[in-house]
Amino acid sequence: MEENNQAGLVFPGDRIAMEEEGLPYSNTYAENGEIYAAAIGKPKAFDGKIGIDSKHEVVGFERGMYVVGEITDDVKSVMFVKIDQLEMNGKVYVALKSGKIIIKADSRGRGPPHMRDRRDHGMPEAPQYKVGDIVLATILSAEGDTYLLGLRDRECGVIHAKCEFCNTPLVPGDNPGVLYCTNCRHAERRKVSAMYNNLKDVITFITGKKEEMVQ
Ligand SMILES: [Zn+2]
Repeated sequence: MEENNQAGLVFPGDRIAMEEEGLPYSNTYAENGEIYAAAIGKPKAFDGKIGIDSKHEVVGFERGMYVVGEITDDVKSVMFVKIDQLEMNGKVYVALKSGKIIIKADSRGRGPPHMRDRRDHGMPEAPQYKVGDIVLATILSAEGDTYLLGLRDRECGVIHAKCEFCNTPLVPGDNPGVLYCTNCRHAERRKVSAMYNNLKDVITFITGKKEEMVQ
């Protein structure tokens, strides 16, 4: 059976198995010899049957929560983020819409890094992000057809990025706003998270922040 993500969840319309692997059972349907999910949940196989266990609570992200996602599109003043789902406190948080980062017109690649860092101090959404970056962000607003994301906090920013030339994962250097390629020595400017390349800490951070919100 196929599971598409970290939490092992499937979504309606996801192909979960071939029909010869078992009979479609609860929350599934068969089409053209394949079994598809009809609900959000975890696929389960038992007694030659394949079903979706959707007992656990699936909820949407809320304003103030921290999320991780990949930048998928860059349309000049807005970048779109595909937000990862998150399993936390017995609930599964899913993003049923994209996130967006509003990019300030003056935060795009002008001036040397040391000048930019000074000028950008305390400014939101600066300096830079690129398509393919994995970012940690906070949800400023959950209204409308997208989540408005903020990356101003020290923890927020790019947590993983690859070299635009050779696709090697970038590493932080001495300058806090610059990432380096260990392969071709190319340098790229980013708003780098304090937890760059440390997904374990990121998850601990997100979970802790959510518990603070609840209290
Ligand atoms: Zn490179």
